[in-house]
Amino acid sequence: MAKTILVAADLRNGALRQVFYEAVYAAQTVAEDDDILCAVLIGSGITTLADEAAKAGVHKVIVIDHPELEAYRPEAYLSALVKAAGDIPPKAVIFGHTAVGRDLAPLAAARWNAGAVTDVTAMDRSSDGRLLFTRPLYAGKAFERKVFTGSVTMIVTVRPNNLPPAETDSAIEAEIVELQYDAPDLRTIVKEVIRKTSGKIDLSEAKIVVSGGRGVKSSDGFKPLEELAEVLGGAVGASRGACDAGYCDYALQIGQTGKVVTPEIYIACGISGAIQHLAGMSQSRVIIAINKDPEAPIFKVADYGIVGDLFEVVPLLKEEFSKILA
Ligand code: FAD
Repeated sequence: MAKTILVAADLRNGALRQVFYEAVYAAQTVAEDDDILCAVLIGSGITTLADEAAKAGVHKVIVIDHPELEAYRPEAYLSALVKAAGDIPPKAVIFGHTAVGRDLAPLAAARWNAGAVTDVTAMDRSSDGRLLFTRPLYAGKAFERKVFTGSVTMIVTVRPNNLPPAETDSAIEAEIVELQYDAPDLRTIVKEVIRKTSGKIDLSEAKIVVSGGRGVKSSDGFKPLEELAEVLGGAVGASRGACDAGYCDYALQIGQTGKVVTPEIYIACGISGAIQHLAGMSQSRVIIAINKDPEAPIFKVADYGIVGDLFEVVPLLKEEFSKILA
């Protein structure tokens, strides 16, 4: 019998996030035979995104648009998701491993008495055809592979920038369905959302991250890093050392108690490479470290190391990349 696989679309600033397409890829990998792939868009003023979501390789797009859904609220979003699923528990629900996905996934798992695998970085099939979900453990020092047993609903969150995005096709004609939002009796109300952004590009989805540590020495010390990031089309991140010293906002913090990033290139400037920092960036594809101490632990994980003063090296890199990318 055909079963439904839901992809809870991640939205940011009124647009679909890149991780949505990666979640659709995960849904396509989970799908068998005549399973129905459904993108679920929940929010306010989002109906216009339905056409775009429909081209991501799903069969159906369900839109639940209501002013009360403008800010994320767990109870409200869960009730919308449950409505999108209908009477029969879905075969799987896929989320981005983002602030919203990480919050909503366990609630969905409880609602459907489901199994859950979070922070998935890879998916394969075993020789006997079972789906294997890979996720990092111990701050990226090890990986575990998990399988779902029985016929429980599968709840999965996918780490941004790890799975390939689903291919979009403008010729795809997915059905678009708008559902009414039955406002549940909410116990919490969002009074205000105060955004602390790290710049134009979302840090957790950036392909290139230029990060500064205590070695930048001041908030002005971040300027050369910002300039390099701009030339490269990347985002700026930071160690907790830099945040604690007041050189930058905590919204930039990468690591165990900050954001987890997996960009194609991570440039660590004046960062020693403490284990708690590595927890947030060691899965980056290429790591470049700039540090004046040749013994700094960051060089142990770096693919390329530059021993030198960041205030000399970073402007040189910016100059050279400006020429190459001009
Ligand atoms: P430092 O360790 O002081 O290193 C500064 C580096 O800059 C040095 O290696 C120095 O050689 C180099 N340097 C100085 N001047 C220059 C220059 N001009 N040019 C080039 N290099 C220069 N940390 C995180 O980052 N993220 C986390 O999420 C996090 N969570 C934590 C959670 C817990 C429970 C605990 C206990 C700690 C956590 N930490 C975290 C803190 C972590 O242990 C380190 O203290 C922190 O990462 C150090 O930051 P840093 O590398 O910028 O500073």
